[in-house]
Amino acid sequence: MPVTRSEAGADPAHLPLSRLPGVGERMAEKLAARGMLTLQDLWLHLPRRYEDRTSIVPIRALQPGLAAQVEGRVEAVERGFRYRPMLRVAVGDDSQATLVLRFFHFRAAQAAQFKPGARIRCYGTPRAGQHGLEIVHPSYRLLDEEDAGQLGELLDPVYPALEGIAPGTVRRLIGLALDRLPDDETLELLPLELRVGLNLPSLKQALLTAHRPPRDADLAALSAGTHPAQRRLALEELLAHHLSLRRQRIALQRQRAARLADGGALADRLRANLPFALTGAQERVFGQIRADLAKPAPMLRLVQGDVGSGKTVVAAMAALLAIEAGKQAALMAPTELLAEQHLANLRGWLEPLGVRVAWLAGKVTGKARAGVMRAVASGEAQIVVGTHALMQENVVFHDLALAIVDEQHRFGVHQRLALRDKGAGGNVVPHQLVMTATPIPRTLAMAAYADLDVSAIDELPPGRTPVQTVVLSAERRPELIERIRNACAEGRQAYWVCTLIDDSDEVVAQAAQTTYENLSASLPELRVGLVHGRMKPADKQATMRAFKDGAIDLLVATTVIEVGVDVPNASLMIVENAERLGLAQLHQLRGRVGRGSAASSCVLLYQPPLSAMARQRLETMRQTNDGFVIAEKDLELRGPGELLGVRQTGLAAFRVADLARDAALLPQAREIADALLAGSPDAADRIVQRWVGGAARYASA
Ligand code: ADP
Ligand code: MG
Repeated sequence: MPVTRSEAGADPAHLPLSRLPGVGERMAEKLAARGMLTLQDLWLHLPRRYEDRTSIVPIRALQPGLAAQVEGRVEAVERGFRYRPMLRVAVGDDSQATLVLRFFHFRAAQAAQFKPGARIRCYGTPRAGQHGLEIVHPSYRLLDEEDAGQLGELLDPVYPALEGIAPGTVRRLIGLALDRLPDDETLELLPLELRVGLNLPSLKQALLTAHRPPRDADLAALSAGTHPAQRRLALEELLAHHLSLRRQRIALQRQRAARLADGGALADRLRANLPFALTGAQERVFGQIRADLAKPAPMLRLVQGDVGSGKTVVAAMAALLAIEAGKQAALMAPTELLAEQHLANLRGWLEPLGVRVAWLAGKVTGKARAGVMRAVASGEAQIVVGTHALMQENVVFHDLALAIVDEQHRFGVHQRLALRDKGAGGNVVPHQLVMTATPIPRTLAMAAYADLDVSAIDELPPGRTPVQTVVLSAERRPELIERIRNACAEGRQAYWVCTLIDDSDEVVAQAAQTTYENLSASLPELRVGLVHGRMKPADKQATMRAFKDGAIDLLVATTVIEVGVDVPNASLMIVENAERLGLAQLHQLRGRVGRGSAASSCVLLYQPPLSAMARQRLETMRQTNDGFVIAEKDLELRGPGELLGVRQTGLAAFRVADLARDAALLPQAREIADALLAGSPDAADRIVQRWVGGAARYASA
């Protein structure tokens, strides 16, 4: 931690927490383990909710479900042991009504405090009980007769827990940190002329309001996270992330890449050889890539295209531009299955053009591996297809000009960078093409990928019929046997996907094995195959090949087939325990069918009872095939953190901002970023430093 500067007193924001009274070494360590290192970390640890203890509500006016503070006298106390220890305390007040406080966990001394007649003040959420309203485990305080029981002027913050640290301590430390907030002049980084018109409070005011709202603050807005104080903080955080990505983008633009301006002859030949015509969207995106590659600055382009939209052939054409220029291209896929499929496609498309395609995966070992490495290093291999193995240190390229990463959400940003660095020499880096079938909602793309250009293949090849999706309870599983039998009798093929919540490969593999045996027994006339993650790659590959060749009718599989697998004749998919999968994963899986011209269907089997969330997910799947609609819904249901994850995007976890809630602030953040980069680059630096800090080191580039 760069505390030296702050120790000089320059910026209290970076003051280490050990400087706070009462924070010893052990406490400082505990705090550090929870990400709390400096005063600023505490300033930005915002309340999760608020409790209003600024007024007393008459018991008669209490409403179920609405938290409130009441004050009264103990009227009766009852200790009981029905099924478990229980303590009930009846409290009455001047409104001539009674409220029951109910405790299940209590100590004897605690129970003894509640003497009839004692004055008590308590806070909690009443609900309807057996005898009128009751509050279970309220927070409470017994008042002395002399105690005036002064009410606070501020709402009480309730902070997200810091594991291992008592809530009271967290509150106290944050209070101490807030007392050390410097004045507006020191703290504020947004130039005044930008703040004017935003109609938002200063940073200091925003922090104080968010932590210690006055009693008349808009509690509903605070609870929803939409109070101007919170919006001010979210805006600055979004701005910081956006700036950080933009700066990296600028840095990347300063680097150079091979200009692949001439050529296109090989790509034209591939186009002419294809058994289909490219869609308008494929042509458009290829055109965009081609224009990028013709520039001397490195391309960094994300191609989004729904499952089956035909991204691979576009990638192949891009690779041909590099190859025609005498350089190399690499295509990296997240699973061996997918990489092998790309290999088969690329061989089929490129070898007839005289292009040498190499293959590198974990299972390529010994002499074969050495041979591939040599071919890659000498430039004899013009395009290399593979898995993570491509990124290993000892893989050296002759002249890598284009790095293509498929299904990048499966990779970490670091991995994308590792592949890019393979081609780095001096100031020259390869162009990068990133492909994903996990559509990213527009708002999120803006925040997560401010550093990427985004293209969309937003059209499916003609002749595909949308997949019909039905959602069925697992009890109706027997009916499906008939359905599979019929589909296969018509010469079609089917997938049966086994999933379990347990993500240990072994357990899932076992479930798949059992399902495989059962289905084989119920459908003796069919050729049934099995693939799962625990199989030897060669066996897996052989089974996939047999399925693709039509030598297997029904493929029992785990989610290893989720990504990219392409067997157009498969028209029926059954997904077990579909309620346990996320929307993105379901969409990916379903994308394995509907790739041919036959009408396809997808049966999502669930184990009742369904949670509300699971019901919404399955309903969404039933209603739409549109990946973008599904992604928006996913964002709404899960929030962006899970949708993208820090690791996947280099998008550090936000402390305050919530992309689903604060999406509307993004255009504003972008405008402010433009102004800052143009007029106050220093302020821009400091804003990034404040919010993103060292995390920017490994954000995307
Ligand atoms: P994804 O975008 O999901 O990676 P693929 O690249 O695997 O999609 O393409 C899916 C299937 O569609 C492949 O069999 C591919 O050969 C085929 N395909 C690609 N483009 C077209 C097109 N324009 N017309 C018809 N089929 C196409
Ligand atoms: Mg693909």
